[in-house]
Formats: sequence, C-alpha cells, structure tokens
Amino acid sequence: MSKPLSDLEGPVRALFTDLDGTMVTNARFSGPAQGALDSLFTANLPVVLVTGRPAGWGHALASLFPFAAVITENGGVSFVPEERGLRKVLALPARELAEWRTIMLDAAADISEQFSGARLSVDSAYREFDLAIDWNEDARLSPGVADRIVELLLERGLAASRSSVHVNYGPPGVDKWVVCERILEECFADLSAPYDDVVYVGDSLNDAPVFGALSKSVGVANVRDRWDELPHKPGYITHSREGDGFCELVDRLLLLCQNSC
Ligand SMILES: [Mg+2]
Repeated sequence: MSKPLSDLEGPVRALFTDLDGTMVTNARFSGPAQGALDSLFTANLPVVLVTGRPAGWGHALASLFPFAAVITENGGVSFVPEERGLRKVLALPARELAEWRTIMLDAAADISEQFSGARLSVDSAYREFDLAIDWNEDARLSPGVADRIVELLLERGLAASRSSVHVNYGPPGVDKWVVCERILEECFADLSAPYDDVVYVGDSLNDAPVFGALSKSVGVANVRDRWDELPHKPGYITHSREGDGFCELVDRLLLLCQNSC
C-alpha cells in the first residue's frame, strides 16, 4: 500500500524524475513546474531526468538545464554532462542498432496495418535507440488497443511498454531502472545500493521498474489511472496530479533538505 507523500522522510541525495505526466501537465511544462525544477537546481539537489522521449530531446534538455544526467528513450540513450561537454551513453553498442532498427520498422508497418490509426509517433524521427507508436498524443487509441500493441511487440522479442502517450519499444533488456542503476553507479559514487537516499517520481507503466527498485519511489496522483496494471507500485503518492504533484514533491524535498541535506 502506497503511503501519502507527507510520510516521505530524508535524507534525500538525488531526485530522478520522469517527464510526461509527471513534470508536464497536458503536454505543457507549466510555470509552477518550471519554478519547482529551478528551485531544486538552486538547492543543489542533483536531478536526473528519465524519460521515454527521444535522444534529440535529451541532448537539448541536457544542454539547457543543469541536470546531473538525462536518460532518454526509456534508457536507450543517456547524456552525462562533463567538463568538455555532454558524454553520450548508449545502452547497446552502436553497431547493433541498425539491425534492431530494421526489426522495429517492420513491426511498425505490421501494426499500422492491423490497427487503424496506429502509427509511429512524430518524435520517432528523432530517436536513435527505440521507436514509439503514438496511442494518446496526436492519435486517439484506447488503452486496450495500446496494450494489444505492447503484446504483439513482446511476441516479436522486443521490449515494449506503455507511457501516458506512447507505446515505446526497442531492443530487449533495457528499461528505465537498468540505466538509472548504471547512472547511479557512474555518477553518484558517494551513494550505494539499495539507494535509499534516492527519490524517483513517475506516473506510468514504463516507470514501474524503478518503482519496484527504489524504496523512495513516488507516484504523482494520476498514477492511480493505471494502478491495477502496475506490476510495481510506488512507495508514496502525491495528492495532486501531474505537474502539480511534481510541485508538491519538490516542496517536500526542499523541506527535507533543509532538515537533513
Ligand atoms: Mg510519464
């Protein structure tokens, strides 16, 4: 049973956060959520962005904001700021990606034939590792159809998971937690497993691997929309939905940091 956010206690050494449906509300990054993110940077709490969005988004966001790292494509491509610029981390050797891309494009073509209105997301053009079928961004497919698409992709040996807007799919063996753990090992040498000082916040099924791995995992309130489908539930839950829930979490973290960070 998830606890209310007010039960979350410190110490907190880093925040890993999802983007869509968590920091972003109705596809917009609102002023209050931007202010909340900025207050974390000002407080020097390391923030890692963890999103299913494309590597192109990640490169831009890692260039514009002082994130400790930006993980994109559900772990496929990450960017770590270093003295001489951004270091790019691929979850698989680059030489293997072309073959997987052919398999993924074949799958997209079959899915478009089977499900009316199903198509690659517009942002798939900017992806390096995985691809996405749009079910709830520009397209309007039911969650049931999105789940059927996930099943078909899994049957083809691909990894697949549904976010609030897309079915992301790609080479198997990579998910948000696999790469969060790698970034923790590489970039947070002062922290160690089981990473009880790290908070993760998300809202959807592709966040479930991290919900299951970290004791201080938080769902913004809209995570309840997918509650029964989540294989792992967050440890804590906010009162508010989406960006307002993110702001609520940030207020709590800043309070905890005042006391213990
Ligand atoms: Mg999300």
